[in-house]
Amino acid sequence: MTETEDDGAELYLTLLCWIGLGIATLDAFLQPLPVGLVWAALGAAYLTGGLPPLRTALAELWHDHRLDIDLLMVVAALAAAAVGAALEGAVLLALFSLSQSLEHRAMGKARRAVEALMQLRPETALREGPEGVIEVPVADLVPGDRVILRPGARVPVDGRVVLGSGHLDESTVTGESAPVRKEPGAHVHEATVNLDGILTVEVVRGLATSTVAQMIRLVTEAQAMKSPSERFSDWFGQRYTVAVLVGSVLSWFGFRYVGWPPGEALYRSATLLVAASPCAVVISVPAAILSALSAAARGGVLFKGGAALEGLADVKVFAFDKTGTLTTGLAGVTGITVLSGSEADFLARVAGLEAQSEHPIAEAIRREAAERGVVPVPVSDMRAYPSEGITGRDAEGEIWAGNARMLDRMGAAMPAALAGMADGAETLVLLGRGPKVEGAITVADEPRETAHAALAELRAAGAGLLMMTGDRRAVAARIGARLGLEPGEIHAGLLPGDKVTLVDTAARQGRVAFIGDGVNDAAALARADVGVAMGVAGSEVALQAADVALMAEDLRKLAAARRLARRTAAIIRQNLVLALGAMACLVVGSIFFALPMPLAVVGHEGGTLLVVLNGLRLLADPIRAR
Ligand code: ADP
Ligand code: MG
Repeated sequence: MTETEDDGAELYLTLLCWIGLGIATLDAFLQPLPVGLVWAALGAAYLTGGLPPLRTALAELWHDHRLDIDLLMVVAALAAAAVGAALEGAVLLALFSLSQSLEHRAMGKARRAVEALMQLRPETALREGPEGVIEVPVADLVPGDRVILRPGARVPVDGRVVLGSGHLDESTVTGESAPVRKEPGAHVHEATVNLDGILTVEVVRGLATSTVAQMIRLVTEAQAMKSPSERFSDWFGQRYTVAVLVGSVLSWFGFRYVGWPPGEALYRSATLLVAASPCAVVISVPAAILSALSAAARGGVLFKGGAALEGLADVKVFAFDKTGTLTTGLAGVTGITVLSGSEADFLARVAGLEAQSEHPIAEAIRREAAERGVVPVPVSDMRAYPSEGITGRDAEGEIWAGNARMLDRMGAAMPAALAGMADGAETLVLLGRGPKVEGAITVADEPRETAHAALAELRAAGAGLLMMTGDRRAVAARIGARLGLEPGEIHAGLLPGDKVTLVDTAARQGRVAFIGDGVNDAAALARADVGVAMGVAGSEVALQAADVALMAEDLRKLAAARRLARRTAAIIRQNLVLALGAMACLVVGSIFFALPMPLAVVGHEGGTLLVVLNGLRLLADPIRAR
């Protein structure tokens, strides 16, 4: 059975259970009904409310050799029926199945939201090739193919715009409803909608590694990575279930010992069983976490599980990568200095070298070439050196592009003619062949519009901030100042390993989150307590290493995600206090104060419903940037 059918059946059974209960209640309180009808109604309530948990409990016992709270509920209801409190037993089952349905709804919601995206993907695409534009199955597309997007059509693949411009509705992927303008060089995501304009897009990723495929994997993995509180409630559920079963049996002897007649003692033991069942404790944590994960997913923030969510709640230091994270890296090429030959030939070589690179600088250079109508030269054997640059081979031999570190690696010296450029506060890319430098390109790196507000919000909330970059100090200082960072918070000229060391140093102040986008950030993302990957267009390695992914390239979503994480943590605390407190009161009441079974049932299930509803509150508002 599929998830949806299963949920449907569950709701249906819950409804039947409540109808049965309703008829039985009518008889008890308002209007005497024929005895046969009442028994049939109660029987129906027991079957519809009791069989599903019994099935779950037996499956659990059979496969994992574990006692489940579902079993407690069934035993408690049967015990109630046995001591002549059949109506109370039915109330117990009805409330239990209601809270289960609610919980499953919350769980399924996040996954279904993402799976729905699958259906949004068109089956075919218009591929442009030597034989003209033909319609082909999306599965046949490979990176490098060119497809045509017509207005109103869904985007079939992840790609990069090479021709044309227009607006896309990306809300399915990023949760943001405002249309996004796309020009040559910009990324487009599968399952978003082309609102206007005709675009030619080059396929970047095949089906298996597409945006939607990644999202589905993230959400599926989410179920596996449990947070400490989730593990607590799981552990509690299992251990405690056994204790409650054994304890209730022993309590019968206890009640007999202090003088209660056998039937009365059984009634009180059954009451204790209901009172002590840890349903509320077991549900309190997942109800909150799953609701929060689902709300986050709808807002374009994917958490790899409750652990990442709870981790983000107490982060003390947020460390940011610069290029591609705090900045777009796409502000464009501002200057080209060529030492010999023409500017166009020079740009053609750099663009050829950067053809496959996913670094934001590479994207800026490719765009500049495209705008000038410069055709990149074919370059083979490309090899990226994170935080340094890239090497490759053209018709004449090996060439390289990168920063001063790459210059050193190649045994080249900075030509005097470039010295002025190299001292500026803009990102510099040198191009050379062996030890000979051929020229340089400056790329203006500009802060993202949302970065300043996001950093300010985090700082106001008392978090520490850091900027870590492989770029030069002068560039870092200029960007940092514009973002309101203190000089002491800026670290420049770093290699990937240095970022890891700095994360470790920051960890002395408390939990560290690292936010990055590139290949050079993967190690730091993995090392930080919480790794946050920026944008699905970013590097796949980064996405793999991260615990959280911001689908939209909007840093305010990070601040919003932190708020959500903290609200979730608060709700989990409330839920645990409420659940444990209610349980303690009911247990004490049923042992020492002859608590009547109806009160135990209402107290127990009322508490369970309350924590589920308290958790579901998180579902109400998706993450939004402030
Ligand atoms: P950040 O840490 O800020 O994201 P990176 O470590 O990615 O920056 O890059 C640092 C520097 O390395 C860049 O400023 C650039 O000079 C050089 N670099 C990295 N990748 C490339 C590339 N593909 N082409 C040219 N230069 C590059
Ligand atoms: Mg980067």
